[in-house]
Amino acid sequence: MQFENTLEFARKLDAEDNLKKYREEFHFPKVNDEQVIYFTGNSLGLQPKRTKKYIDEVMTDWKELAVEGHFYAEKPWWDYHERLAAPLAKIVGAKTNEVTVMNTLTVNLHLLLVSFYQPKGERFKILCEEKAFPSDQYMLRSQVRFHGFDPTEAIVEVNKRKGEHFWRTEDIVKKIEEVGDELALVLIGGVNYYNGQVFDMETITKAGHEVGAKVGWDLAHAVGNIALQLHDWKVDFAAWCSYKYMNSGPGNASGVFINEKYLGKKGIQRFEGWWGTKKETRFLMKPEFEPMENADAWQLSNAPVLSVAPYLASLSMFDEVGMEALIEKRNKIVAYLEFILHEIDKEVDTTFEIITPKERGTQLSVFLHGEGRSIFDYLMKNGVITDWREPNVIRLAPAPFYCSYEDMYRFGQILKNGILKK
Ligand SMILES: *Cc1c(COP(=O)(O)O)cnc(C)c1O
Repeated sequence: MQFENTLEFARKLDAEDNLKKYREEFHFPKVNDEQVIYFTGNSLGLQPKRTKKYIDEVMTDWKELAVEGHFYAEKPWWDYHERLAAPLAKIVGAKTNEVTVMNTLTVNLHLLLVSFYQPKGERFKILCEEKAFPSDQYMLRSQVRFHGFDPTEAIVEVNKRKGEHFWRTEDIVKKIEEVGDELALVLIGGVNYYNGQVFDMETITKAGHEVGAKVGWDLAHAVGNIALQLHDWKVDFAAWCSYKYMNSGPGNASGVFINEKYLGKKGIQRFEGWWGTKKETRFLMKPEFEPMENADAWQLSNAPVLSVAPYLASLSMFDEVGMEALIEKRNKIVAYLEFILHEIDKEVDTTFEIITPKERGTQLSVFLHGEGRSIFDYLMKNGVITDWREPNVIRLAPAPFYCSYEDMYRFGQILKNGILKK
């Protein structure tokens, strides 16, 4: 399609957008009395209007039923979390029994490493990408120290090539082969938070398995953003948060995938709690732990229903729309944003360098060569919410659920004016 950098053309794309009515389903903050242009759905998704209803329902049940709500609420609390597994399984390409919702992301990564990082003899190393998300780095380092290893020896990072801003799959595979028998685990962010790169999860998972390692993925920036086939890719485990592209609210609950082949097993290492034991006998309060036959075996506590409720609200929207339609709009709106950036680039002295490779989802990370933080402040003051990373990268993630083509056009104009005004 031949794009045009005009308001009229952007409005034409919006008029043809099958998802346009979903924009009305979200609350937008306002700046100067106007809805903001929101590029930070990769950090905290906007609030869906229907979320309040889901929370109010729990509040009302709690008010009117108190403890009886566990079994007699409209959606009983004791198995409330089970409602999330089926819609989530569709989004991550899993079987329903392989998915559960519990805790928060970093907590879950620690718990999953209890099961999937068991160093033995020479096999004690973990491979990850260089400059992984800080929480993942802290998690990995503290895990290897917990097992008595030195992180500088036990953690192997795959670097980008000099002068390049992305990782090459062949470099990751080569490193996996090099570490070989010493490799216990591969754990990478499926979509990199900084450059927006989508990793070839299938190829990397296969390479890890070929040397006898387990392979897990942190999908914080992937879920609700890109197509996933965790089951078919034979991924061992994965975890993600729900407040980024999943729009389920600040700090909210995390989703977990555990490959079917580990389910219903008694011998597996796992930290356990009462919500992981069979629900048929749970309230007999017996001393033996009998694991649930599904990923719920990893649950420790009774579900935080007030945080699972907004997640369920969000999933109801994903279920209505489907990832396929979201991805179709995503591809088009990101391509339009890229086009706008190229057009504006011609009109200003600043050079824009998109560092996101072609394997991408919703996010474009852009170097604004010659600009400083003041352009970011200008954008914020003018109603464009972006994310600034030193020295001069802005991350733009136009979530297809609620961003419009007109937003992309207007962003281009505001960016241009901000640069020209300097
Ligand atoms: C957002 C993000 C996190 C955040 O972890 P929490 O435990 O939810 O605070 C962790 N890892 C990655 C890769 C992220 O993008």
